[in-house]
Amino acid sequence: TGGRLQGKNVLITGASSGIGEACARHFAQAGSNLLLSARRKDRLEKLKGELESRHPNIKVSTFELDVRNRSKVQATATTFGDVDVLVNNAGLVIGLDKLEDISEEAMDTMIDTNVKGLVHVTQSVLPGMRARNKGHIINIGSVAGQQAYANGSIYCASKAAVASITKALLYETVDTAIRISEINPGMVETEFSLVRFRGDKERADSVYKGLQPLDGNDIAETVVFVAGRPDHVNIAEMLVFPVNQA
Ligand code: NDP
Repeated sequence: TGGRLQGKNVLITGASSGIGEACARHFAQAGSNLLLSARRKDRLEKLKGELESRHPNIKVSTFELDVRNRSKVQATATTFGDVDVLVNNAGLVIGLDKLEDISEEAMDTMIDTNVKGLVHVTQSVLPGMRARNKGHIINIGSVAGQQAYANGSIYCASKAAVASITKALLYETVDTAIRISEINPGMVETEFSLVRFRGDKERADSVYKGLQPLDGNDIAETVVFVAGRPDHVNIAEMLVFPVNQA
């Protein structure tokens, strides 16, 4: 990244595990200061301790934050200071079922987290970026937003919404120096996958069909690459697959 991320303030949502946690490690490696948020504060504190001892030159702050809670997001954002890079990563999938079997609760949780939560955090950070006419918002979408699959209707719809929101934001900020990017991972082995398969290794194996999934580091490297381009370069979209996925 040519040192371009050094000293930048990077806010990551869902930094307590998986892709978000890997992003924290990779931005720390690049010399960025970190604003780490998630609901599991204990995980964030542990990660902060580890990163600060490994990278004494960076500053790491942690925020217990449920992205679904708009007023809490707005209140917490007043303490962030200037955010140079926002990685909208918090997201989940639950209750993969046929449409007629999806519970109201599962539907609300996915829409409230993956769609509304992303909007809440963006709304709390974008005005500051506009005022400074700089900043970078990187949304973690999914291939699921482009290719729907059986039993994934609501999750796929939530990620298609992320794609639409990202495109609209790109237009809304086109006359500014703010960059807007979307990174769409294919299969990544994280806690998400364990939840998705409810710990059912046999089912996981049948879905992966011998395919070697990515891990969080593979996506984090991509996120850091995208963030680390020169200010006049915006990588608007990237699809990152394991080699045998299409
Ligand atoms: P993980 O389950 O490992 O991580 C999800 C993160 O989101 C956790 O840190 C969790 O933190 C956080 N999170 C969930 N709900 C909330 C909430 N309401 N408020 C704040 N944080 C929340 O999964 P991944 O790392 O795999 O997922 C990260 C992103 O990548 C998601 O948006 C997912 O949709 C996307 N993705 C994942 C793929 C995969 O195959 N794994 C493929 C394509 C996209 P906590 O519970 O502490 O709040």
